[in-house]
Amino acid sequence: MFETLSDRLDKVFTGLRGKGRLSEADIDATAREIRIALLEADVALPVVREFIGAVKERARGAEVSQALNPAQQIIKIVNEELIGVLGGETRRIRYAKSSPTVIMLAGLQGAGKTTLAGKLGRWLKGQGHTPLLVACDLQRPNAVNQLSIVAGQAGVDVYAPQPGNGVGDPVQVARESIEHARRTMHDVVVVDTAGRLGIDAELMAQAAGIRDAVQPDETLFVVDAMIGQDAVTTAIAFSEGVGFSGVVLTKLDGDARGGAALSVRGVTGQPIMFASTGEKLADFDVFHPERMASRILGMGDVLTLIEQAEQAFDADQAEKMAGKLASRDGFTLEDFLEQMMAIRKMGPIANLLGMLPGAGQMKEQIKNIDDRDLDRTAAIIRSMTPTERVNTKIINSSRKVRIANGSGVTVTEVNALLERFAQAQKMMGQMAGSMGMPGLGPMSK
Ligand code: GDP
Repeated sequence: MFETLSDRLDKVFTGLRGKGRLSEADIDATAREIRIALLEADVALPVVREFIGAVKERARGAEVSQALNPAQQIIKIVNEELIGVLGGETRRIRYAKSSPTVIMLAGLQGAGKTTLAGKLGRWLKGQGHTPLLVACDLQRPNAVNQLSIVAGQAGVDVYAPQPGNGVGDPVQVARESIEHARRTMHDVVVVDTAGRLGIDAELMAQAAGIRDAVQPDETLFVVDAMIGQDAVTTAIAFSEGVGFSGVVLTKLDGDARGGAALSVRGVTGQPIMFASTGEKLADFDVFHPERMASRILGMGDVLTLIEQAEQAFDADQAEKMAGKLASRDGFTLEDFLEQMMAIRKMGPIANLLGMLPGAGQMKEQIKNIDDRDLDRTAAIIRSMTPTERVNTKIINSSRKVRIANGSGVTVTEVNALLERFAQAQKMMGQMAGSMGMPGLGPMSK
């Protein structure tokens, strides 16, 4: 997702590197290119206009006279504006003071509501809740059955009308489910509702009826990111017809453009709360605007990477890694080795590397990665003394020969590793600098 946009923006920023100062004409040209990038990514026009307006104004303003170079300044501004467009702070579920919390799902047929109910069920259970999934989609043949299946996969309970009882009244089912949840000590109720292929009055009326019956704490509008600009039209219709408090984007795995993600918040005023990225129940996560902006700008998604690592290791180790990644000098070959060994356990390297800063520029290399190369690299580091691992500057030619012999590689390969490591360190320093991390670069105040 967002690949086209990332590539385009990367070209814009590359064009700015090496410029000492931004003239009015540079700013206009840059704004034009960013505009095209957003429009190509299918972002809604009003959102694009506002975005470009803000970027231009800020680029012209006082910020430009500071010490950052122009490319860094523009990246910083675009990053902050992207975070804003994506919703700013991560929006978490607001749980009710008294159980159960009711979450209602609304959206068109095929948007992914039933699948999402299963994903939410699994996720809520992982957070220590005891969710109950409620089947109120009584229109689509098999929807009740489908919900029971995903509930089974998620290992959570389901409330559904008995099969063979006719179509039934979804509003009544919804109302009864809340009573049932209270009796059976479920603390979160997820209500799956019927969708239609298009927006129609009857669909809206039914959803509104269910809403009035269950008084949801959260109404999530579920929208398929692949429908592009239609996502915005549908969002407006649901916003007016039913109202919602959050958005879930589905099928982000299939959409290279991602315009829906960048438009929905701006157009409806409601935040994106979750993102669905595949058909499996685990392909789902809380939506973090900051991390998404970071990924779009090719600055990587180190936090998500670390969370994945956390699942493989204890929290202390992961936190230490996060700190080191954020500082240029703290990160040594010893850490590099430790990480490599950790990462080796976490699945195909290419997926993980995709989340690192600069991944966009290394796309081809990442594709060609052979996991066995890591073992060679590990062998090289293991042939170094502890002092060498911490201070690579002392590795002179005779040490290189010793290391190469020790690990069964050539001196060229040792050099290549040292070179790559130096670059990685530099990239981390730059990233920390441009993100304004305290005390780590020119942005710090
Ligand atoms: P509903 O009509 O809104 O309940 O939609 P469903 O949950 O039945 O989903 C419709 C189709 O989309 C199903 O084939 C799902 O497997 C698929 N689907 C749902 N979410 C995702 C997703 O995030 N990625 C992909 N690739 N497919 C999805």
